Amino acid sequence: MATKLFTQKCCHCLATAKQLRLFRPMVSRHYQTNYGDEQTADIVISGGGMVGASMACALGHESILQNKRIVLLEAAPKKTLILSESYGNRTCTLSPATVQLFEKCDVWSEVEDMRCQKVLRMQVWESCSNSLITFNQENMADELAYVAENDVIQEALTRRLDTLQGRVEVMYKTRVDDIKIPGVSKDMDSNAWVKLVLNNGQTLKTKLLIGSDGMNSSVRKAAQFHTVNFSYNQKAVVAVLNILGTDNNVAWQRFLPTGPIAMLPLSDTVMSLIWTTSPDHAEHLSSLSDESFIDAVNDAYWHDRDINEVANKVSSTFQSLVQTLSPGGTSCRQLPPTVTGVQKGSRASFPLGLTHSSNYVRHRVALVGDAAHRLHPLAGQGVNLGFGDVSKLSEVISRAASDGSDLGTLSYLKEYETDRQRKVLPVIGTIDGLHRLYNTDFTPIVLLRTLGLQAVNALTPLKDKIIEQASKK
Ligand SMILES: Cc1cc2nc3c(=O)[nH]c(=O)nc-3n(C[C@H](O)[C@H](O)[C@H](O)COP(=O)(O)OP(=O)(O)OC[C@H]3O[C@@H](n4cnc5c(N)ncnc54)[C@H](O)[C@@H]3O)c2cc1C
Repeated sequence: MATKLFTQKCCHCLATAKQLRLFRPMVSRHYQTNYGDEQTADIVISGGGMVGASMACALGHESILQNKRIVLLEAAPKKTLILSESYGNRTCTLSPATVQLFEKCDVWSEVEDMRCQKVLRMQVWESCSNSLITFNQENMADELAYVAENDVIQEALTRRLDTLQGRVEVMYKTRVDDIKIPGVSKDMDSNAWVKLVLNNGQTLKTKLLIGSDGMNSSVRKAAQFHTVNFSYNQKAVVAVLNILGTDNNVAWQRFLPTGPIAMLPLSDTVMSLIWTTSPDHAEHLSSLSDESFIDAVNDAYWHDRDINEVANKVSSTFQSLVQTLSPGGTSCRQLPPTVTGVQKGSRASFPLGLTHSSNYVRHRVALVGDAAHRLHPLAGQGVNLGFGDVSKLSEVISRAASDGSDLGTLSYLKEYETDRQRKVLPVIGTIDGLHRLYNTDFTPIVLLRTLGLQAVNALTPLKDKIIEQASKK
């Protein structure tokens, strides 16, 4: 589709049909007189991962943008997923706000038609004491979240983009190699369009460049945004596990002194493992046979080697006190399932770090997803924040279009930045704080977090507030 549009030239002036439509407003604002063979687009999205592809779907869905040329560039080839009995080892917990965005863009039915699993309850506890916290909706049958494989989400978005042809042009195997931004590149007029050079040698000019090109974003670098970037010196070991069949709808997370281990339900008998640990331990886990790996996972959930006697005693006294004051006020402990197998070839590990760009926008540029912020996966919020960016940015761009404004106008983009930083920064701070709080077995800290966790668990309104916050964009 994209290639076809790029080659449909008008016989008189060698411009594409799309270019002809775009030339009118451009000439009236006298930015440009002659593009020669250069291509133009109203919006270019660089990076078609889960966040970039959903950005393209959201914009393609907006009727106010139907006469705009929207181009999505993705460096990797187009992939097609054929579902089989094996599951992908990269998964995401999708919040209710993400499901809402996917419903609005007609993507959710595709995800459901393929496969995803409801999470009805979450149990979080630690190995240093008996304290725990559980989460569920007031109506126990209502879901807290869904778990889906990244491949399934990406396939659902690709299928939706296929139906949006004519609204969104997707160019696979197309990488942005060079970016010139007005206000950054010295030789550009401050109101000129962003200029991109692609790996196929073509150049493309756009009013608005959206960077969804992941944690090493070239768009962020070209925009010269100051970026905080550090490694947690931890790795996430992932795998697909088999358990003995039950109603598998609980997410299980246990904090160990080396980092949290989490199992998320993928089907009645399949779990996705995300085990955060030190790089040396991750290497050791990778070197184990499948049988020893399964033993290591079961041991991580069941052992009591780390119990801190002081914290445990205080915790038991506190628990009895809470039960006297508020009978039934704490929720009961469930036992995690026993792992019986690991899917062949599903074990892998990823280094973990935190990246945050001090700005998400400048004139004619906006960042979304991991290009703007990357965080520790312990609360499963990373891509959900990226989808939250998509919701807000598409709203702001649509408003700019309906006001008849230039889509790259900074005042609109600033509204996006302010809104998102108000939401993203507290989440990053909380998750980073939790990581630090649980990454120690120092007795006073163990005691503090044990009591804190139990107190929160006993306070239903506070827990409801936490669920409400986690459900938001
Ligand atoms: C172990 C682990 C578990 C996680 N679990 C969760 C979870 O449960 N819930 C959750 O919300 N998040 C989770 N996350 C985070 C989540 O995976 C990321 O936030 C998400 O994948 C980021 O998506 P993205 O589209 O922004 O970036 P990416 O997935 O990095 O996509 C970037 C895309 O841009 C393309 N690209 C790059 N450069 C260029 C270029 N120059 N030109 C064109 N294209 C380009 C790439 O090919 C790629 O397709 C987890 C992360 C890890 C490591």
